[in-house]
Amino acid sequence: MIDLHSHTNFSDGALTPPQLVQRAAGNGVTHLAITDHDCTGGLESAFSAAESTQLQIIPGVEISCLWQQREIHIIGLFIDTNELTLQALLQQQQRLRMERAQEFADRLQAIGINGLMDYIQTLPCQAVSRNHVAEFLINEGRATDKPQAFKKFLGNNGRVRTAAHWCSIATAVARIRAANGIAVLAHADRYRLTRTKLMLLIEEFKESGGEGIEVSYSNLSHDQLLRMAKLSEEMELWASMGSDFHTPEAGWMDLGRIRQLPQNCRERAIWLHPRWTGSETDPAARQLDA
Ligand code: AMP
Ligand code: MN
Ligand code: MN
Ligand code: MN
Repeated sequence: MIDLHSHTNFSDGALTPPQLVQRAAGNGVTHLAITDHDCTGGLESAFSAAESTQLQIIPGVEISCLWQQREIHIIGLFIDTNELTLQALLQQQQRLRMERAQEFADRLQAIGINGLMDYIQTLPCQAVSRNHVAEFLINEGRATDKPQAFKKFLGNNGRVRTAAHWCSIATAVARIRAANGIAVLAHADRYRLTRTKLMLLIEEFKESGGEGIEVSYSNLSHDQLLRMAKLSEEMELWASMGSDFHTPEAGWMDLGRIRQLPQNCRERAIWLHPRWTGSETDPAARQLDA
C-alpha cells in the first residue's frame, strides 16, 4: 500500500511526523512519502519514528508554484534534503509564506480582526499556510469551518485575499532534480484548467524536466481516475498516487485510502522509476537526457 502525498504539522497537517508515521503504519501503508508544503523539516523525526515499523519513508516536498497567475503544486519525491539549492528555494518560499501571513494580518486588522501574528508565533510549523489563518479565523469565531474561512476571507474572492509570489514551475522542477528527486505534478484536476491549458502546463512541466503526474488521489471519481490514467499514458508521465492526508478529522482523505492505479498506466507506475528501484547508476545522466 503506497501513499506518496501527505502532510505533517511542519506545514498544514494536524499530526506530528511520529504521529503520521504511526497512523500510516496502522493503516497498513508500506511506503509513505511525506510532502510538506515548501519544507522538509518533518522528515528527520519521521525517519526515526519509522525505524520501529515496517514502513518505508520517502523524502518529499510539495512546492507551490505560480503558472499563468495560477497556483500549481509540484511534488518532489526521493529528494536529497541536504541539497543546498533546493533548501535555498524552500527557505525563500518559507519567507514568502511569512510575509504573506503578515499581509493577511494587516488586512484582517483593517477590518477589525486582531492577533493573527501572535497566533502564528505559537505554531510549531516551518511553513505557514492559509490553513493556519483559517484556523485562527475559526478560533476567533469569524468562520464556522475551513471552507467558509476560505470563501469569506482567504480564497480568490475573499475579503483579505492576497496575491501569491511563488517560484516558477521551471525553478521548482530544476531544484527537485538538482536534489536527485522526481518531479510530479500534483492533483491536476484541481486547477480548473481547460484541456488546452492543461496540455500546455504539462508540456512546460515536461520541458523543465518534470517526470510524473498524480493519477490516483482523494476525492476522485472513478471516471476522473480513468481520465488521469489516460493522461499519464498519453503524456508519457510516471503515474503517482497519494492521499494528500492533512488530518484524521477528514476521514475521506486517510493515509493509504486511495484507489489502485488503473491497469492502463501500471507500466508507468512510479515505483518502476529507476530512482525508486535503485537501478539508476548515474542520476546526473537523467539531467542530460531531459
Ligand atoms: P497555502 O499553500 O498556504 O496557500 O494553503 C493552501 C492549503 O489550504 C491547501 O493545501 C489546502 O490544504 C487548504 N485549502 C485551500 N483551499 C481550501 C478550501 N477552499 N477549503 C479548505 N481548505 C483549503
Ligand atoms: Mn495543505
Ligand atoms: Mn496541493
Ligand atoms: Mn498536499
